[in-house]
Amino acid sequence: MKVTFHGAAQTVTGSCYVIETETARFAVDCGMFQGNDALEERNYEIDNCRPRELDFVLLTHAHIDHSGLLPRLVREGFSGSIYCTTPTADLAELMLEDSAHIQETEQEWKSRHNLRKGKQDSETDMALYSAEDAQAAARLMHAVEFGEAVAPAEGVSVLFRHAGHILGAAMLDITVTEQGKSTRMLFSGDLGRPGALLLPDAERPPAPEWLFVESTYGDRDHKGENDTLKELAEAINYSCSHNEKTIIPAFAVERTQEILYSIILLKKKGLIPEDVPVYVDSPMAAKATQVFIKYGSELHVPDITLEDIQRPGFKITYTKGVQESQDLNTRSGPAIILSASGMCNAGRIRHHLRHNIWKPGASIVFVGFQAMGTPGRKLVDGAKSLRLNGEELNVAARLFTINGFSAHAGQSQLLDWIGSMANPAMHIVLIHGEPKAQQTLAGLIRQRFGIESVIPDYMEEMDITAGKAPEFNIPASAAARKKVDWNFLMQELDLRTAQLRERIAHASDLPWEEQMDLRDRLAEIQRDIFVLLSQS
Ligand SMILES: [Zn+2]
Ligand SMILES: [Zn+2]
Repeated sequence: MKVTFHGAAQTVTGSCYVIETETARFAVDCGMFQGNDALEERNYEIDNCRPRELDFVLLTHAHIDHSGLLPRLVREGFSGSIYCTTPTADLAELMLEDSAHIQETEQEWKSRHNLRKGKQDSETDMALYSAEDAQAAARLMHAVEFGEAVAPAEGVSVLFRHAGHILGAAMLDITVTEQGKSTRMLFSGDLGRPGALLLPDAERPPAPEWLFVESTYGDRDHKGENDTLKELAEAINYSCSHNEKTIIPAFAVERTQEILYSIILLKKKGLIPEDVPVYVDSPMAAKATQVFIKYGSELHVPDITLEDIQRPGFKITYTKGVQESQDLNTRSGPAIILSASGMCNAGRIRHHLRHNIWKPGASIVFVGFQAMGTPGRKLVDGAKSLRLNGEELNVAARLFTINGFSAHAGQSQLLDWIGSMANPAMHIVLIHGEPKAQQTLAGLIRQRFGIESVIPDYMEEMDITAGKAPEFNIPASAAARKKVDWNFLMQELDLRTAQLRERIAHASDLPWEEQMDLRDRLAEIQRDIFVLLSQS
């Protein structure tokens, strides 16, 4: 049996693992890459998966970094079933529809931009998929219940177990039988924090032979939940006391509902003003909240009753059209605005940042993971300015980063979960994490359990046939692509600077208007370099 890592290998996004057995060829997840341009270009490489030759897909949960390329897979010829839990099917349908919408809007924007510059659209300027592709993917979903074993192909059986990450999120307990020999693989999917708001804890299955475990927070722990609520109250009170807004970029699914639950709890405890209005400015978050209500009996919501939610001060407003969303910018006085995307790389949150980030009394509250290369990550890392839609904005609002809301297990929780099954015969593969987090976690796993973890790279192949020693291989094409020729880039820059110096030597002979134009353009280049350097 061969496993190929098509994504979330030394990165957090793009989860996709293709497994080839004697009788079947299938994928675990088919997620979108999010972050810098080089990473996002991988979204156009789905052919590597050979979509037509995949028999089925197992989907751990609805998050876009796990489900976001399913419509692209379908567009490129995949026609098998997509197995997932019932709530995941509902949430994924919403998320893929929304993702298609974002894709199409961005393509329009890029095309207009190219047209103005007299450029043709490149392949990566095109939308990854359309709303029809997203609907086609939703039609292929085959919902199963937690704890129900399914056999999507001969020799393959799968059990969906609670992962405690978001509504419907599962870990996949997969048994593959080849020539009478069985191999059990456990894919953790994204693993939740024990005691998370709204959800049951992750299950602790018996030890598998191969454990594929996420490592997002392999290098750090989260703060306690009491601090989390206190920090949220502090952020809201800060902007309320300055008569400004609290902007919360939040993933539409799970995080938005957790924050809403927390806000109601804070109002009930009198820790924030009861009359501060709360807006959910994301059509997707509004729809996702409906799904949460539908599966309400599966949620864990202590300390809040139905009567609480009906109190006038606890009312939540879901904005409808674009106009209502834009009206929030001209609305004076304090307010809490939850909007998507959670990493500020798309969606309405961008215009809320544009209108608030430069205001000293406003607060921006990060309540989720910010992937490398996203505007959210730049802010969390301390950027003094932020470029949004071609405009450089000064960062004057107060930024709060609250880690305790994470839907992911922190370092000690990951180790605790791994420890519940670790044994010397078990293989551990670290996926879904950035290299630093993975190295740290691998070190701790070695120390505590004496197991040497495998950290696969993008497109790496792993042969794990039962009864044989595992073999690893990175195809030459994948290995070659990783290198950046830094020397060449710096030499080019030096050369251009020398040419510029020559031209500037005669600049004072130019007409005054041209000199001013040149000065502005040079100042702009200088600012870009300054911003780059200040972000380390
Ligand atoms: Zn997730
Ligand atoms: Zn994930």
